[in-house]
Amino acid sequence: MKDSFEIFPQPLHVSGEGQRRCCLIKERTASGDTIEKELWFLYPAGLPMLEDDNSDSYLLAVLLPAMQLKANITVHGSASSELLANLTELQYVWQKWCPEQYFLIDIKVDHIRKNECRVDGAVCAFSGGADAQFTAYRHATGQAGYSSQALHAGVLVHGFDIPLSDTKGFAGAEKLASKVLDDLGLRLITVRTNTSELWGVNWEHYSGTALAAVLCGLSRYAGAGLIASGDAYDELFTPWGSHPITDPLFSSGIFKVIHDGAGFRRSEKIKTISQWPVGVNSLRVCWEGSENDRNCGSCEKCVRTRLNFLIAGVLNPTCFSTPLKKAHFKKLKLNRGYVTDDWKYIREKMISADVDAKWVRQVEKVIKRKPGPQLAYLFPPGTQRRVFVKNLMKKYLK
Ligand SMILES: [Zn+2]
Repeated sequence: MKDSFEIFPQPLHVSGEGQRRCCLIKERTASGDTIEKELWFLYPAGLPMLEDDNSDSYLLAVLLPAMQLKANITVHGSASSELLANLTELQYVWQKWCPEQYFLIDIKVDHIRKNECRVDGAVCAFSGGADAQFTAYRHATGQAGYSSQALHAGVLVHGFDIPLSDTKGFAGAEKLASKVLDDLGLRLITVRTNTSELWGVNWEHYSGTALAAVLCGLSRYAGAGLIASGDAYDELFTPWGSHPITDPLFSSGIFKVIHDGAGFRRSEKIKTISQWPVGVNSLRVCWEGSENDRNCGSCEKCVRTRLNFLIAGVLNPTCFSTPLKKAHFKKLKLNRGYVTDDWKYIREKMISADVDAKWVRQVEKVIKRKPGPQLAYLFPPGTQRRVFVKNLMKKYLK
C-alpha cells in the first residue's frame, strides 16, 4: 500500500471574519496511520466565491506535499480538466528539477469540469515588494502594451511571508499595501490561509503553487491572476517555486495564471518604480529585520535595493528611514551564488550609470568577502522556525 491524500471539500462558512473556504485532507501512510488536516482560506465578505465542491485550489496546495511523500491524491469534489492536464505537466517539471525529492503521483477526481469560461478582469499577488509593485504599476497604468491586464485588485496573503501569529506586522503591511494600491485605483484583497503551516515542503519550492491556490479561489471575481517574476529571463534559477515554466501550469479552465515581468531585471523594475512617489515610499523589501512591516535598511536585500535606487539616480529613497552609509556594507556577506551574480551585475550598472565611485568600491569589497551561513535557506520566510529564531534574536541581541 502507498501513501495517499484524500481531499474532502467542506461547505463555505460565512461569519463576521469573512468567507472561509476549507477542505479536510486525510493523509494515509503506508503503515496504515491516518492524519486529518484542515486546509482553509479566509476571503473578505462580499466577493463571489466558487462552488463548495470546486477543489482546484485545494489540489494546487496539496500537489507538492503529496509528490514529496509519493502519495496519490483522490479529490472528492470537482477539478478543472485544464488544471488536471497542467498539473500532469507540472509534476514532470518538479520531477526533473528535484528527482530525489518529488515523485510522479496519480490524481483521481470525482467530477472533472470541462468547457468552462473565465470572467473578465485580473488580480495580482501583492506582497508590497519591488516585483509586485512593478507588476501592479505596469498593468494599472497600461504600460504592458498588448499584454496589459485589466487589474481589479492586489491580493495580500497573511500566512506566507508574514506568519498568521504576527497580526501587528500584517496590519502594518496591509496599511502600506492599501495606500499604494489605492494610488493606482486598485482594491486591496487580504486573504488569510494556513497553507504554509501544514506540510514541511521547502518554501522556495512551494511558494508559487501556494500563491496560485489563494488566487484561484477568486476565479469568480477575476479570470486571471498575475504572479510577479523574481528573476529576469536571462538570469533564471531552478528549482524555484515561481518560474516562467511553472506558473502558467497553475492555470485552470476558469483561471489563468500569468508569470509577469520576467522581461525586466530588478534594477530596471526599480527604475520604473522610482518615478512613482507613493510606490517608493511604501516599498517593502525586507524579510530580515525585526519588524515585518518595515525595511531594516541594512540587510543584504535592503542594501541591494538601495543600490538599485542609486542606479536609478535616487540616493535616499523614502522607503528607508536612514541614508545610505559606508557602515551598511561593512558586515554584509553574500550567501548564495545567484545573489553574488546580482551584485556583480549591479556593479556594472553602477559604473555605466556613473554612480559615485565610493559606492562602487563598497560593492566590490562585499563581492570579494567570503560567504557566510545560508540563514535564509535554514530559516525560510513564513516558517515557525524563522519566527522562533527572530524572537530569540530580539530577546538576546537587544
Ligand atoms: Zn532589511
